[in-house]
Amino acid sequence: MVLEIFDIKNLKHYDELFICAYCAYCVNNSAACPTYLSAEHEIVTGRGKMITARNIAIGNLNKKEGLTALTEGLFQCTFCKACEDNCIVNIPLTEVYSELKSLIQTQLPKNTRLMFENLEKKNNFYGLEQEDRSNWSFDIEDIYNEWVNSQHHTGFFLGCVYSYSGRAGRGPVSILKIAKRAEEKISIFSPTEYCCGNPYLLGGERNKAKRLAIHNVEQIEKLGIQNLIISCAGCYRVFKNEYPKFIGKELPFKVITHMDYLLHLVREKKLKFLNKSSVKVAFKDPCELGRHCGVYDVARELINSLPGVENRELLNHRENALCCGSGGLLKANYPNMASDIAKQLISQMEEQKIDLCLNACPSCLLNIDENLRSLNSKIKSIDISELVLDRTKDS
Ligand code: SF4
Ligand code: SF4
Repeated sequence: MVLEIFDIKNLKHYDELFICAYCAYCVNNSAACPTYLSAEHEIVTGRGKMITARNIAIGNLNKKEGLTALTEGLFQCTFCKACEDNCIVNIPLTEVYSELKSLIQTQLPKNTRLMFENLEKKNNFYGLEQEDRSNWSFDIEDIYNEWVNSQHHTGFFLGCVYSYSGRAGRGPVSILKIAKRAEEKISIFSPTEYCCGNPYLLGGERNKAKRLAIHNVEQIEKLGIQNLIISCAGCYRVFKNEYPKFIGKELPFKVITHMDYLLHLVREKKLKFLNKSSVKVAFKDPCELGRHCGVYDVARELINSLPGVENRELLNHRENALCCGSGGLLKANYPNMASDIAKQLISQMEEQKIDLCLNACPSCLLNIDENLRSLNSKIKSIDISELVLDRTKDS
């Protein structure tokens, strides 16, 4: 049964399997394949996955053996896109991986399967209750009660990690406190917000993500939101790149990062800055914002607008950023690999002698935070909005 549905010849990108030149530019480049740094075996790399799929297609690997190897390769991957951006013949590798994953749904790693079950039942991958989706806001009850389900030009989509994970919730709290200081109003809709659908997409279950996308777009339209702030890199990528395909047209609202929003407040002179002691920071470019969406400059402009903040770029930054290790569901399925990769990134932070690692993705923030703690490092991992809040005055 498993082998019957595994028909690699139905791939839209089938021909690309044979274009791969086996040159390894996808592995040995200035960004590097993060999981290869940890696993050091070929199957996890771009060319490893392409050759495995090709060998299955031409019968050089039997399907059972090939299926096991391919599943390992596809899920020991952070979807960071460094391979694709360095492929010598421009194979759309991340699209090929997503297609291949759709063929191996009966072989999903246990924790991915569990996430899918949770999404099916509760519309979030943790399997928590919808009513608990507002728990992140306990510190700003007044602001939350004023803005929840209110109709405003600007809205804020949190996503599952910020909503449910506790520690990461300080990011959205900071954004809303800053908005209040700037005398702005923002619609939030935690009571009806669902997961953006990214875990389904990363697990190769594209059709199931569509239901969540349609629901979220309906909620946003109901509130009349024209400008949607998103502070999770994964949600941002999915709204920007995938939602228009799901709804069959351009989104009826503009999607911006929280950094765009905060920089806009700075430029409009809506924030008053505090003079505080100097701090050395590095911005961790999230793969789903950077390589997947081309968002790099706004973080630097925002950091440079803050008094007393010195930006120190990591060895791997912008287009060459190293994944934090948690992308592509890797942390859920292979937590040790996710830690190995985070530790390589942390060594670059230690070299730069920074005080703060600034994030624009809750998954990066949490994985880096967990590993900084395990190394007893003095560096702190925070959302970039937490620093903006710290450097601005209450009005
Ligand atoms: S997406 Fe990233 S982790 Fe996956 S194969 Fe490509 S470079 Fe490696
Ligand atoms: S860079 Fe492209 S062509 Fe070369 S091995 Fe990697 S996937 Fe194949």
